[in-house]
Amino acid sequence: MSMDNKSIIRRLEELDKISIILDPDEAQRKSMTTTVMDYANQFIEGLPTVRSFTQKQPKNIAITEEQHTLQQLMDIYQYNVAESGINAASGGHLGYIPGGGIYASGLADYLAAITNPYAGVYFASPGAVAIENEVIHWLKDLFNFPASATGNLTSGGSVSTLIAFTAARDRYGIKNGRVQGSVIYMSEQVHHSTQKALRIIGLEDAIIRYVPLDEHHRMKTSALEEMIQKDISLRLYPFMVVATAGTTDTGAVDPLDAIADIAHSYNLWFHVDGAYGGFFIMTSKSHLFKGIEKADSLIVDPHKSLFLPYGLGAVLIKDYEAVLHSNQYAASYMQDAMSDDLLKNPSNVSPELTKHFRGLRMWLPLQLYGQAPFIACLEEKLLLTTYFRNRLLEIGFNVGPEPDLSVSYFWYPFEADSDTKNKQLMDAIHSDGDIFLSSSIIDHRFVIRMAILAFRTKRHTIDRAVCMIERSLKAIQ
Ligand SMILES: *Cc1c(COP(=O)(O)O)cnc(C)c1O
Repeated sequence: MSMDNKSIIRRLEELDKISIILDPDEAQRKSMTTTVMDYANQFIEGLPTVRSFTQKQPKNIAITEEQHTLQQLMDIYQYNVAESGINAASGGHLGYIPGGGIYASGLADYLAAITNPYAGVYFASPGAVAIENEVIHWLKDLFNFPASATGNLTSGGSVSTLIAFTAARDRYGIKNGRVQGSVIYMSEQVHHSTQKALRIIGLEDAIIRYVPLDEHHRMKTSALEEMIQKDISLRLYPFMVVATAGTTDTGAVDPLDAIADIAHSYNLWFHVDGAYGGFFIMTSKSHLFKGIEKADSLIVDPHKSLFLPYGLGAVLIKDYEAVLHSNQYAASYMQDAMSDDLLKNPSNVSPELTKHFRGLRMWLPLQLYGQAPFIACLEEKLLLTTYFRNRLLEIGFNVGPEPDLSVSYFWYPFEADSDTKNKQLMDAIHSDGDIFLSSSIIDHRFVIRMAILAFRTKRHTIDRAVCMIERSLKAIQ
């Protein structure tokens, strides 16, 4: 039997007493905000002196019925998150590809989460979606893409790549029996998210050709063209070239303009991965990006070279019909939200529907500061890379070829067992932890990388890194 309304009202009152805690009143909100803001301020104030890398295991994070105060949780956060692993907010993160997380974006995320607009469809929040689309518009201008191109703000480069490759696959009809003879060309220095995306979208059985590289780790265009011709003569089906504008390991920019011309003369899809390096187009290195506007698809990661907190990538694609093919779907319960302009809705050009209003974290700082501080910061990273390499040469290290951007590598010329000894040096650097560096294998050699991209990395950070490297070298000898 269903309940009568009198009992329902009594029960509702009981439930409300329990659930009301989810909607704190103003005094409670102020107190909570103060606790978190005080913590955040202390965290930022401490950044110049903290270690960049700490190896420890998390503890006390199990979810039980026990309640905690917000202050207790800040302490748990400090131990487990702020003080463990790589401190990616500090300028001392010179490993992998650093980012930073500028403060204004943090506030934008807070605002987006509190107001919680629905950024998936225009009808639900015309303003939030217009802001997202304005960010994409800004990116199209920056990379000289036509107004007719489409784009999406994603969670990062890997998802951007998925969207781009799916469009390429659908544009060229690479499915069923077609997959096996299809050929994709790339440099051995591509980011692994490239091969991963191919696997996810059902192109695992396509043929990947690794194009040989020059002494600066850039793709050799003559070799690319020869490979395409050979594959055509073998009756295979070349369909995509992936170029990288800033390789993760070697900071190289492939010769985009020449690759674009080759790709298009053989009617191939031309994809550019600018996840790490893309925004260097705003710097004195802009000439290296000539031809990027010829890309059929381009990915960039504002959470890398625009210093935003992790969780923002972007993809631009010229053939919007190919994008709509796999992402646009009409459902009856969405009928109020349909729009004449399909491309207006982010959900039509992305696998995501409901999502964080992530465009605000990029729009807000660009509106607050303009572009100049971002450009200055990127120019600084280019100079610091050269400064670091020069200092390493002074203390007897070997360095890799001059990079196009701000990632490079080095190794110590031990007399014997170079790889083993450089690996020991890497371990010593990790135990030290003052500044974080990571390693790689390049041309069959164990090397230590420097990736200089965090906005808080300054000249004194590099000086500290050099001291740490000298200290670590002594420790293993
Ligand atoms: C980081 C990176 C990616 C992957 O991007 P995520 O944002 O980590 O998913 C792809 N390509 C390059 C060159 C990168 O540096």
